[in-house]
Amino acid sequence: MARLIVWLVLAIIIARLLWRFIRAILDGAGMLRGDAPPSAMKLVRDPVCGIFVVPSQALTAGSGSDTMYFCSEKCRKQWSGR
Ligand SMILES: [Zn+2]
Repeated sequence: MARLIVWLVLAIIIARLLWRFIRAILDGAGMLRGDAPPSAMKLVRDPVCGIFVVPSQALTAGSGSDTMYFCSEKCRKQWSGR
């Protein structure tokens, strides 16, 4: 009987380890979360003219969460001049 319990505990531990391993792989592949893929086109709004721009190609002002994106130098100047 004691042997059976030991085997049961061992099986549970192995199953948990395996599950954690599988979760880590799925997490790394971004399959577990329902988030949009990071490669998806994400647009930000130019606060001056209201046009949507691609962050990687836009002009920026500020940093961190306060970063603003602009379609052109003209808009950026207008924003910083306020
Ligand atoms: Zn603009």
